[in-house]
Amino acid sequence: MTVGIVGAGQLGRMLALAGYPLGLDFLLLDPSPGAPAGQVAPLLHGAFTDRRLLRSLARRCEVVTFDWENVSVASLRAIQAADGARICPPVAALAAAQDRVAEKRLFERLDIPTTRWRAVQTRAQLTRAVRAIGLPGVLKTRRFGYDGKGQAVLRTAADLERAWQRLGGVPLLYEELVPFDCEVSVIGARSTRGELVVYPLCGNVHAHGILRLTRAPYGPAAWQRRAARYLTRVLQRFRYAGILTIEFFVRDGRLIANEMAPRVHNSGHWTIEGALTSQFENHLRAVLGLPLGGTGARGHSAMINLIDAVPDRQRLLRFAGLHLHDYGKQPRPGRKVGHCTLVEASAARRDARALELLQELAVEVRIP
Ligand code: AMP
Repeated sequence: MTVGIVGAGQLGRMLALAGYPLGLDFLLLDPSPGAPAGQVAPLLHGAFTDRRLLRSLARRCEVVTFDWENVSVASLRAIQAADGARICPPVAALAAAQDRVAEKRLFERLDIPTTRWRAVQTRAQLTRAVRAIGLPGVLKTRRFGYDGKGQAVLRTAADLERAWQRLGGVPLLYEELVPFDCEVSVIGARSTRGELVVYPLCGNVHAHGILRLTRAPYGPAAWQRRAARYLTRVLQRFRYAGILTIEFFVRDGRLIANEMAPRVHNSGHWTIEGALTSQFENHLRAVLGLPLGGTGARGHSAMINLIDAVPDRQRLLRFAGLHLHDYGKQPRPGRKVGHCTLVEASAARRDARALELLQELAVEVRIP
């Protein structure tokens, strides 16, 4: 059975690595000949919008999935219509996740608390949005934002013009800046047969808009229950198949949805060593209609992203129990090039060791 993946980044790579033990084959499509997943699976080289290549991918695969959000919805719909290609997760969920306004409306329709927001298209609308929502706030591009890109924080009236100069010209969204106590994400899967599982909640720390540290399990049982309820609403709404992630701000014990990702997620990388079944394996099981694997934690995990360049392997692997994942990417400032995971017997020991590792890596983050 061959699974097609549109996108051959590190997520595609980890999907393929998780699928081989199950006897699955993979075929990926990516514009970059040096894409990380191309080192472990066959790659069709071309644009995400190349209908000929997409059709060829669909014809050769049981199911087509994607490893990042910005693949073309129109192109996927076209191969679905022309060839009856089976695409999971549903293209409608991908379309909602690609547009911050559609995503906010979805959360509101499903009664999932989210930030107060306004759509902004013109300079006058920005002024009105700031008047309605207040300061501080965040101006974000509606589309193609990731890892904090395409965002500006507005703290004073003087910031309006600067932010507009930087981001104006494309559809935007203005929302309140949430003075959150912490950030969490919930990851779960629904299979084509309607089976549903949810992982323990992840506690996430970002620096400069990029995820730096995830700890799991995280937070009180009440947060877990609420997050699972919200996630289930989205999974059911789309008759979803695959892994879905929702990220939340936590403020005074309230979960406020920030965004969703219709795919395996960086905050779920700990599941490779830290859960009974990894998010990657469960994504594949879900899209192929196989029974889903257990999502229980094997211990207390910490996942630390390696950004810019992978540090010296000799030094890293001296760290007892450290699991290293090097994505085989060229170093570049701000680029996620790998991650490491620690699994410990208690939350206290995990936190102490995560701090030790962060210090070893000379990474400064404020851990709530
Ligand atoms: P996003 O691309 O929307 O996930 O934003 C990346 C990160 O920026 C989030 O994980 C937060 O740390 C921060 N951020 C984004 N939007 C807000 C907001 N409205 N209030 C507070 N922090 C935010």
